[in-house]
Amino acid sequence: MTLLAFLLVLICSIENVSEARNADDSFVGVRNQMVERQIRARGIKDERVLEIMRKVPRHEFVPVYFLDQAYEDHPLSIGEGQTISQPYIVALMTELLSLTKDSKILEIGTGSGYQAAVLAELAGTVYTIEIVPKLAHQARESLKRLHYNNVFVREGDGYFGWPEHAPFDAMIITAAPENIPKPLVEHLKEGGRMAIPVGQHPNQSLYLVQKINGRIEKKEIIPVSFVPMVGLIEKAGES
Ligand code: SAH
Repeated sequence: MTLLAFLLVLICSIENVSEARNADDSFVGVRNQMVERQIRARGIKDERVLEIMRKVPRHEFVPVYFLDQAYEDHPLSIGEGQTISQPYIVALMTELLSLTKDSKILEIGTGSGYQAAVLAELAGTVYTIEIVPKLAHQARESLKRLHYNNVFVREGDGYFGWPEHAPFDAMIITAAPENIPKPLVEHLKEGGRMAIPVGQHPNQSLYLVQKINGRIEKKEIIPVSFVPMVGLIEKAGES
């Protein structure tokens, strides 16, 4: 193939990909199937969460070369050694937070921005922090393109949370520390809920943490495998 022909093929396939991304309807069927077979079948009952999982275009948050796997039952690489979580885990963590339209949420580990988009459909405002600059930038662009105007992405280390907007009704931590970071607990409202994977990779558990009368109550939910939380936590002696 000549270089010119190669370039033409490349341009056409990129155009096809962006058409595929825009023609959202072509994914409705697989998205419904994902919800029924992977999410409802595993016990997620909150109809609002199921509805949002049917609505949010997950394929908009995965690299183009994984477009055909966007709705499959596993995490996917998003580059920089990081992953977009398995759809079921996104739904489970969302359900655990019991969100309302007024909730103010903090997410640590924006990654692709998909989890933030799911939260934004159910809550008032989502503040999300990502430590890898390239991922923070890409997630911000994806969320902007899809008009998620109630999501605010900050590039940085989420260990100390986002004090300017604290306290939060709910927190979701999508990178695993070995212990729950104390500053995050401090920024959780009384009665607030936090979904967090804790433990050494790959043997972690997902916990639901609730702040009740100033004290923390922890409930172990299921075994999970998240990428480790990095940065300040490693120096804080908590990791
Ligand atoms: N919620 C994401 C998946 C997250 S993967 C999604 O929906 O796609 C975990 C992310 O946490 C990675 O992008 C990683 O870079 C980020 N991360 C790890 N340690 C962090 C820290 N201390 N502060 C903020 N982000 C962190």
